[in-house]
Amino acid sequence: MRALCWHGKRKVQVDTVPDPKILNPRDVIIRITSTAVCGSDLHLYNGFVKSMEEGDILGHEFMGEVVEKGSEVKNLGMGDRVVVPFTISCGQCPSCQKQQFSLCDNSNPNAWIPEKTYGDTTAGLFGFSHMLGGYAGGQAEYVRVPFADVGPLKVPSGIPDEKLLFLSDIFPTGYAAVERCNITHGDVVAVWGCGPVGQMAIRSAGILGAAKVIGIDRFAPRLALAEKGGAETINYEECDDLEGELRARTGGRGPDVCIDAVGMEAHGITTVAKIDRAKQALMMETDRPYVLRQVIQCCRKGGRVSIPGVYVGLVDKFPIGTAFSKGLTLSMGQTHMQKYMRPLFDLVEAGKIDPSEIITHRVSLEDAPDAYRVFCDKEDDAVKFVLKPGASRSSPKQN
Ligand code: NAD
Ligand code: ZN
Repeated sequence: MRALCWHGKRKVQVDTVPDPKILNPRDVIIRITSTAVCGSDLHLYNGFVKSMEEGDILGHEFMGEVVEKGSEVKNLGMGDRVVVPFTISCGQCPSCQKQQFSLCDNSNPNAWIPEKTYGDTTAGLFGFSHMLGGYAGGQAEYVRVPFADVGPLKVPSGIPDEKLLFLSDIFPTGYAAVERCNITHGDVVAVWGCGPVGQMAIRSAGILGAAKVIGIDRFAPRLALAEKGGAETINYEECDDLEGELRARTGGRGPDVCIDAVGMEAHGITTVAKIDRAKQALMMETDRPYVLRQVIQCCRKGGRVSIPGVYVGLVDKFPIGTAFSKGLTLSMGQTHMQKYMRPLFDLVEAGKIDPSEIITHRVSLEDAPDAYRVFCDKEDDAVKFVLKPGASRSSPKQN
């Protein structure tokens, strides 16, 4: 089959690789009909995630059709249409039983690596390094899905792939980032980063009852899409005093909820941001915590900070004193996908949200290397790429 493979920093290509096989009675094989490129893929693309190996198949946002199944998979039939969560979870361990699916105790065969680094393992993830299981990803024609009796969500025909595909990651991720902040009447939610995750967080904040949502980014098309999703916006490149601006828009108090939907590759224009960039390049810190510091600094006292943006290691100058003094509540982590997919499917089916409105580019799998470059460099007004395995090669932009 054809699959998008990692070959080093900013080097990906579509290779012909062996088809996946059933390895375990709880596996299924999916023929992929739609798959997307995620901001998390860019951390791999840019070489910031260790334990990638040449030839690894990328991709963790995908859906398709069951074409083969193991003997213990009773909940799915051949030909069923499914959306697959990016987290691989056994459903039976203490973490899964608590619905903390992204912390599954059993799905990472290389658990010893994160145990050494982080003190414990998380769930295995599709297409996301050997540290997280070394599973082949879904930017491919076919993929093996382990624990298929727990993960994939069966969906009816009649709703197009594009409206359902983001149930595999960014819609639950944006939603959970807001939901865990327990929005109450009158709350103002500020979202740093109007990429796909930020867009989903903005729309979810509206659904969950925020009085006002403020989206922060520097790219005009992303800010415009945030406004379409119900947010006011701030272009931080045109704003000398972001903290002051946020206070001015929140009665002098600061946002009740601040969401870091940017993560470890934050862009910044200050001297401190430049120092972070240099330190990351010199491996003196693994992540650039520019936005992380801002969300803590800008949040109102007693407020909630939520961090869906990915961080992988150690950061400098983490303002613990500010977070402590203001009595902030911090929450973070990979999304507990299986908990959210069904209820969020219901919202899509009821027409309460259309996640497909953030798609700017639809291309064939063969065009994936171009898609990575354009998405990474934020060219061509790109917000979200959907790849169609099996489609013939196309020009990069097809709005
Ligand atoms: P993306 O790269 O498309 O979007 C990031 C956005 O942040 C960009 O629009 C960029 O302009 C903006 N940004 C950069 N610096 C900024 C700053 N200083 N202030 C404000 N905005 C700034 O990526 P995405 O797909 O939206 O993903 C966002 C993050 O969420 C990534 O770190 C990704 O790995 C993470 N993620 C986490 C989970 C999870 O389960 N927790 C799931 C999916 C993605
Ligand atoms: Zn993702």
